[in-house]
Amino acid sequence: MRTYIKKLQKGEVKEDTSFVYMLPYEQGTSPFIVQGYFGPFSHKNRAAIDFKMKRGTKIVAARDGVVTRVKEDSDRGGWNKKYRSDGNNIVITHADGSRAGYWHLQQNGALVNVGDTVKQGQVIALSGKTGYAAIPHLHFIVWKSQRGSWQQVATRFNTSKGIRYLKGWKKYKRPAEQ
Ligand SMILES: [Zn+2]
Repeated sequence: MRTYIKKLQKGEVKEDTSFVYMLPYEQGTSPFIVQGYFGPFSHKNRAAIDFKMKRGTKIVAARDGVVTRVKEDSDRGGWNKKYRSDGNNIVITHADGSRAGYWHLQQNGALVNVGDTVKQGQVIALSGKTGYAAIPHLHFIVWKSQRGSWQQVATRFNTSKGIRYLKGWKKYKRPAEQ
């Protein structure tokens, strides 16, 4: 899986027809990626991306879907595993059955409810630092069901420099026309 994601990031996988996601923040912003796929801090087993964001930053839906989970009652968080279940979050289920998770939202920071249909680019939440988090950021992750079990997957994003698999320690902007 790690090796495969590296190949994706280097553009070595040809004939990629996977869905192209929108960067989950507003046009003109480019949050620093403090941790990429399988990063050494809290992503050792996670194909997730951490975008550094000040509390209250608008988060947009990376893909159309239906909201299937919302937690926004927590005001607890910090750099301790005891906070793992305290992260406010939204899960959106896409038309192909895959799901995207948006984590660490601020308290009452969900702007959508379970059952809502959301469009790609729609503002859905305000970022925060709830749950297991050293700094305020958005933890973004996608799962796909493969042969009956949920797998975390790396996804392509539309960026100002073209379609990319994102890497840690970089910044990406949405393309101007999006
Ligand atoms: Zn994370």
